[in-house]
Amino acid sequence: MESNERPRTLSQYKRFQTNDEGRKTFSSIDQIKTEASIERIYDRYEQLAALDATLPKLLRGDHARYLQLSLERLSTAYESLDSSRPWMVYWILNAASILNLRFPHELLDRVVDFLVKCRGKDGGFGGGPGQDPHLATTYAAVNSLCIIGTDRALSAIDRPSLKRFMWSVRESNGAFRMHVGGEVDVRGAYCAISAAKLCSFTPEDEQRLFEGTSGWIAECQTYEGGFGGAPDLEAHGGYSFCAAAALMLLGGENRCDLKALLRWTVNRQMAYEGGFQGRTNKLVDGCYSFWQGALVPIVQGLIARAEGNQSIMNVSLFNRYALQEYVLICCQRPNGGLIDKPGKPADLYHTCYTLSGLAVAQHCETHSPPLVLGDERNEVLPTHPVHNIPPKAALDAYRYFLELDQPGSASEEKHCNGKSADPMDACSENESDRQTSSSHMSSEDSSSNYTSSRASEY
Ligand SMILES: [Zn+2]
Repeated sequence: MESNERPRTLSQYKRFQTNDEGRKTFSSIDQIKTEASIERIYDRYEQLAALDATLPKLLRGDHARYLQLSLERLSTAYESLDSSRPWMVYWILNAASILNLRFPHELLDRVVDFLVKCRGKDGGFGGGPGQDPHLATTYAAVNSLCIIGTDRALSAIDRPSLKRFMWSVRESNGAFRMHVGGEVDVRGAYCAISAAKLCSFTPEDEQRLFEGTSGWIAECQTYEGGFGGAPDLEAHGGYSFCAAAALMLLGGENRCDLKALLRWTVNRQMAYEGGFQGRTNKLVDGCYSFWQGALVPIVQGLIARAEGNQSIMNVSLFNRYALQEYVLICCQRPNGGLIDKPGKPADLYHTCYTLSGLAVAQHCETHSPPLVLGDERNEVLPTHPVHNIPPKAALDAYRYFLELDQPGSASEEKHCNGKSADPMDACSENESDRQTSSSHMSSEDSSSNYTSSRASEY
């Protein structure tokens, strides 16, 4: 089965405009307004593209400048994010990696020193120096240090205290609080397992720490098919990504209705705009280019693994050109940075996740060449769809920590108990879900090779 995707002719998809059948609601009014603003942009784009065949263009230099300036100094608009500083570091570093922008070593060393100051004395990373550790900022800090990838950066992750912190936020049923005394939601499970995998926790540690976790995650699936933040909450793109990505790492997907999840996810791509919405009846938003865009191949990977049928992965089940149109035509600020939707200001969060979505749209069919809209210079580097860092950074970090556990011995020998030199390997708490690592390492047909194969090609 091969993909026969073609770019849309913009005039064609005006037939997908919302028709409220004369019954206005708050959400239909907002939707029609958004479509009107996007129609103006697409109409203008068609006129410009008639004059300049190289359009649409990724404004690489402008985004690079925006990221570079932001890493050195942020405007006062970011004051309210003082408890999310590792997040800002991560958003900048990951967006820069996707654009293949390298920062000077001296600047990256300063970033590592800053993140060390955010490390709690009892483990984990807080939102800034002296702040209490939090699973979300721990995830952001670990991802950032893996992206930097130097010995100095990776040695800034203290695994014994990180494990203690994870135990301090673990509930007896396998769910995780975001911080001590904080809220329980599916982000916690994802942040914890993502960091544990990158840091190569031992299979025994993983099994104990995540006992019951995939069962709890399964309880968060809603009647719509997507996942809410906790049981009985509304299905949402960000939480659904966290749930599916965690299941990809943990195993246990057989407890979920994967077909319903796939149906819900692919239906979040907007027929008119080309981008994704986060929830049913909501507006398109650039950041869901990643949360929902990466969710599609992850769910296809879960189904392929559950059914033992790798061919499910051959063709991606969302419109990869349409998503690139939305990102490149509607979400770029001319002076750098990417946005939620036309009319919104640029910010680091949307810059990171909109570019991450672009990377997924281009690279998610791992056995096919990248699918790039417009000029070949629009191609960005791939991102690991589960961890959202460069695939090689994920593999290098995993191997670095694996080596620390067994100095002097070949890491390949450590395959037993579901552990291999592959951060995508499931370390299932359920024996029937566990795939032997040797099959992951030797077989191109392993469903979890969705990303590991990309990592090995990189
Ligand atoms: Zn957004």
